[in-house]
Amino acid sequence: MKTDFLDATKQSLKIAADYLKKQEVVAFPTETVYGLGADATSEVAVSKIFKAKGRPADNPLIVHVHHPQQINHYVTEIPAIAQKLIDTFMPGPFTIILKSNGKVASTVTAGLDTVAIRIPDHPIGRALIQEANLPLAAPSANLSGKPSPTTAKHVFHDLDGKIAGIIDGGATGVGLESTVVDATGDIPVILRPGGITKHQIEKVIGSVELASALKEEQPKSPGMKYNHYEPDAPLYLVDGEHDFFQEKIDHFQAQGKKVGVIATKPLIDQINADICYACGNRNNLSEVAAKLYFALRYFNDTNADIILAETYPNQEIGEAIMNRLNKAATNHLKQNI
Ligand code: AMP
Ligand code: MG
Repeated sequence: MKTDFLDATKQSLKIAADYLKKQEVVAFPTETVYGLGADATSEVAVSKIFKAKGRPADNPLIVHVHHPQQINHYVTEIPAIAQKLIDTFMPGPFTIILKSNGKVASTVTAGLDTVAIRIPDHPIGRALIQEANLPLAAPSANLSGKPSPTTAKHVFHDLDGKIAGIIDGGATGVGLESTVVDATGDIPVILRPGGITKHQIEKVIGSVELASALKEEQPKSPGMKYNHYEPDAPLYLVDGEHDFFQEKIDHFQAQGKKVGVIATKPLIDQINADICYACGNRNNLSEVAAKLYFALRYFNDTNADIILAETYPNQEIGEAIMNRLNKAATNHLKQNI
């Protein structure tokens, strides 16, 4: 299949919408990462997403709509707390899980009785959903297991020849995926930390739980159990001061390895490695979030044999950053203090 590389003009959106109506898949920009969209009511269309990504069939997809009122079309009920969350965070980097009324294809929900819904806060993403006049099932537009795409070029790299089209809307803003919240119980549960923080949610509804199994045992969200976001070279997280960090760089270089580093200021200026990727400043973690996947993919085009990454406090947006880094990493080196 030849992949149509489209700009974000009205004309292109119409072409992309026509692909979607013909049950083809199209990648499009959102404020979090690029999504890979298909008609959520069509088993045929949705199966093409799983095939293009190599995504396990038991990992359900988020359904994207363009207006809060459309949520009603796909759920049995919206509890009062869920409505508050919808009113506050949608559109935005926030996904709500509610009881499904069975209108979306069963492959979208992986056979679960719940459905995940999001409204992207991106003019192109929303315009495409509107133009197609369809709910779009859309996971991140990368090969399964790889870092999510934050540019159209990333999508092209992973999926050229496998999908009908890619709409280029420039680099995404948030850079990490949406926060996924299960609102089917009495107290909502965060299944995946993301662009909206736990603290922001608490301010609106008082209490929200963090899924205890965010990494281990019986995963509540099927996506929790798979490897994710992995760059080609092994990624090690390094907890410690700059001298400890440098010690680790020296250690791997002594083994003849080219060492890549992902870090922020001031650390990045205090160490010497073969290849460094600067992710902004430690006191602005939104910038780290925006650049993280870009950084992980950057090293795929270098000769780095190993990548060492700085770690961040597990709070506010740092929670989502650490969730992704922990999944992407194969090892965690800690300084004994
Ligand atoms: P992705 O679109 O790849 O960024 O991931 C979507 C995330 O939402 C995955 O972790 C899915 O497992 C999760 N998800 C989607 N639908 C549901 C659902 N009905 N119940 C629980 N988790 C879900
Ligand atoms: Mg993904």
